[in-house]
Parts: sequence; structure tokens; C-alpha cells
Amino acid sequence: MIKNKAYKFRLYPNQEQEIFLAKCFGCSRFVYNHFLRLTIDTYAESKQTLKYSNYAKLLTKLKREVDYSWLKEVNSQALQQSLKDLEKAFVSFFSKQNKFPRFKKKTNRQSFRVPQHFSITEDGKLQLPKMKPIKMVIHREIEGKLCNVTISKTPGGKYYASIVVEYESELSPLQGDRIGIDVNLDKIVVTSNGDEYDNPKYLKKSLKKLTRLYRCLSRKQKDSKKRNKARLRLAKIHGKVANQRLDLHHKLSTKLCKENQLIATEDLAIKNLIKNPKLSRHIADVAWGKFLTLLGDKSEKLGCEIKKVDRFFPSSKRCHVCGWIKTDMTLKERQWKCEECHTFHDSRDRNAALNILLFANNDIPQEVRKSTPKEIPETVCISRVTD
Ligand SMILES: [Zn+2]
Repeated sequence: MIKNKAYKFRLYPNQEQEIFLAKCFGCSRFVYNHFLRLTIDTYAESKQTLKYSNYAKLLTKLKREVDYSWLKEVNSQALQQSLKDLEKAFVSFFSKQNKFPRFKKKTNRQSFRVPQHFSITEDGKLQLPKMKPIKMVIHREIEGKLCNVTISKTPGGKYYASIVVEYESELSPLQGDRIGIDVNLDKIVVTSNGDEYDNPKYLKKSLKKLTRLYRCLSRKQKDSKKRNKARLRLAKIHGKVANQRLDLHHKLSTKLCKENQLIATEDLAIKNLIKNPKLSRHIADVAWGKFLTLLGDKSEKLGCEIKKVDRFFPSSKRCHVCGWIKTDMTLKERQWKCEECHTFHDSRDRNAALNILLFANNDIPQEVRKSTPKEIPETVCISRVTD
């Protein structure tokens, strides 16, 4: 089976190259914003929506105008990719997967994509159209055929190349355990085997520094050099926190997928959880969404199956031994005793992980499931297994 994967490498452009890259970012952003505005205006006037084919023709026209001839200085395919992204943004808006496309800002992450005519030189530099090779740190071997590359610059001023390759995947035969995992705030993951992985709470650790920097930023005059400097310092810390978290997520998801043949997990509605003002920052700090995405990616690569369990399934409140449900449980209760079979659950999360595994295995038939009279009927949820 042919699959895609991406390698992300740090780039170190020299001064001259930085100027040219700034031009590429700027032109891609300009084209995106220009056609976003045009799409909005066209729709307001004539109720017509524009597509990539319209954009492409209009772009060629635009480049012929004297005022916009500077667009010719950069790779033309990169500009076309920017318009493809715009079309994609509208498609996902109309299919209700995303919000309305927004204008790109100069202060956010900058990027442009080169779909063809790029290569890696013998001395490991990245060769892009219209410029000299850029120094790149290839920290791992690239396996597969090069497809496209996205060049990005973080708000903190670091440059990266994300190279997408095609490769032939060979899944290894299934081996290892079947486990259930529970994700929560204290421990990033608790497995049904009883393994616990701590959540290092990177954001919390940098919070003092961040609060100070935010205060510092708010005092600076708008559009001043000092404000920009303060903004950069802030972006650097946010970048560091994100990197630390990503590193942990990569290691943990690889470990879990390598050691197990099936991982059952809850299908979390993270967007809804983040709306809870008391928990939102902590939840954003663990970044479950990213973790679960990585787990999904790795599982495909390493041949491990992921089974998602309905998020309304009462995993924490159900006794995994007898099925009794404790309806009056608060978030604070970390340990509890089953009133029916008197099992003492010393870890609420492990009990949840065990239930998730049982449920994924279809080991919880509806008839056997017990409930207290006070409980709201949940039969609909119990009969649904998603995978
Ligand atoms: Zn019990």
C-alpha cells in the first residue's frame, strides 16, 4: 500500500535567502488574502462562488498588470498552491468542518508550499526553485519518493521544511496486548495494564514567565520596535512549550503502538471540553487532540488497531468487575468502592481504561449491565460501538 508521511527539518537560510523567503511568504499571503477578498465581494454582488479554476485564470491576469508584476519574482506554483488551500478552506467551510476562511496575518506562522522542482543536494541542502540551496539539518534519513515541501517560519523566527514523501508501507503482523487507555489531566495516559504516564504540564511550568511577558507586551506602544521584540520573546516560549509537548506525544504514541495490537480509547469531544472555563487551560496543556491524532498515524504505520468507544459510555462510573454504576461521582473522587461487589477501585482512571477495553471487545452485553434506579437510561449509548 502506498502511503504518505512528512519529515520536518530545521532550515538555516542566510541573510540573502531570508529576504527571498520573506518575499515568498509575502506573495503567498497576498495572493490568499487578495482572492479571499475577491470571493467574498463576488458572492456579495452576484451570489456566485469562485473555484480554483477561476482563481488560476485571474492570477495569470493579475501578474500581467504592472502594479502586481512583483508576483513574478517568486515560484508560480507556490502561489497556485496558496489558491488551492483557499479553495480547500471554502470547501471545508461549506461542508461545516471548519469556520469561514480568515485573512492571513503577517505576525502569525508564515508558509508556502512547493509541489515540484525541488530537491535535496548531495551535501544535504534544500534546493528550491529560483534560489540557491538552503542549509538544512537532516536529523533522520528520508525514505520514499519526494512529493512536496512546505517552508514555514514560526512567529519566533525559526524556519522549517516539511517534506512529504510517498512510501510503500508493509504492516507487521499483529502482536502484543490489547489495552484500553484513559486520558486525563493528571496522568496523560493510564492504561488498563496499570501503566501510568505523567502529564508534565509544560504550559503550567512556563506560566509565570508567560504572564510576565504578556504584561510587558501590553505596556508597549502599538507598532513599536519594542513591542515587536516582546512579541518575539513570547512566541519563542510558546514554541518551546509546544515542542516539549510534541516530543512527549511522539514518544508515548510510538511506544503504545509498538507494544500493543489493539488500543481502545474514548472518542473525546475536545472542543466541548475546552469550553469548560475551569478546565480549558489544563486541557489545552495536555493537548489530547494532538496526541490522539498522532496515535492514529502511528497505529497505521506500525500495524496496531485503534478502536474508539462512544464518548457517552460511563467508563469512570462503571465498576469493571460487576458493572454497577456509581451515579453520584464527582471529578475529585480518585478512588471508590463498588457498593455491589465491594471491589475497591484504587485508581479511578485504571477502572475507566479497563471498562473502555471491555467495551471495545464487546464484552459488555446489555443484559448483564446493571444500574441503580436513579440512573438515566443509557441504552442508546451502550449499543453503539464506533470504530
Ligand atoms: Zn462492582
